[in-house]
Amino acid sequence: MSFAFAKQPNNKARGPLRFLALILDLFFPRKCVACNTFGESICKNCFARIKKIHEPLTIPNLDCVYAIYRYEKHGVLQMAIKALKYRFIRDIAIYFRQDLGDFLIENFSKKDCVLVPIPLHPKREKWRGFNQSEELIRGLAWPIIKPLKRTRNTIPQAELDRTKRLVNLNGAFAIREKIQTRFLNKKIVLIDDISTTGATLCECAKVLKQAGAKEIYGVILAHGS
Ligand SMILES: [Zn+2]
Repeated sequence: MSFAFAKQPNNKARGPLRFLALILDLFFPRKCVACNTFGESICKNCFARIKKIHEPLTIPNLDCVYAIYRYEKHGVLQMAIKALKYRFIRDIAIYFRQDLGDFLIENFSKKDCVLVPIPLHPKREKWRGFNQSEELIRGLAWPIIKPLKRTRNTIPQAELDRTKRLVNLNGAFAIREKIQTRFLNKKIVLIDDISTTGATLCECAKVLKQAGAKEIYGVILAHGS
């Protein structure tokens, strides 16, 4: 059960929702996922410890993949992503939107790019209540399309070793709906939270290329190990 929908760090909720948010904060006060300080899901001190790197990575089928932050084992980012994905604290995604949006503006053009969040299997999305990749770009003023679907509810990549991760995703994605030509001619930017082997991005890009996409990039929060 998650009440995180009401926990907006920027307190944009209004009317009854704002009132509900205040009540929920009273009974379920937000606290930092890294240091347990009350007030924010990631406090300013902990967020400042997440280092920005903008590291370019080479992953097959993609022109380039950029990681925005440095991944540290047991670091704030890892704890935040775990809380987002497995404790369903949805508002964690909001903390990363600004940097993600800034990175996109600095490196891509809204005119010739379209964002594609990595899809979850419907069963997993129902279990989590949201798709974290979509949450990361929600509300950003960029064109977003969702042409991919996950055809198999695969074992979470984090639970497998490297070889099994690559096999696990084979054929796990397909085209959900035909991509319009005007999008195929644009740079497609896949969005994901943490990529470890790059297998998910590689497999999604393969399917997009088969559907006619020409240039495919990836922007992820971090390259995990
Ligand atoms: Zn903290």
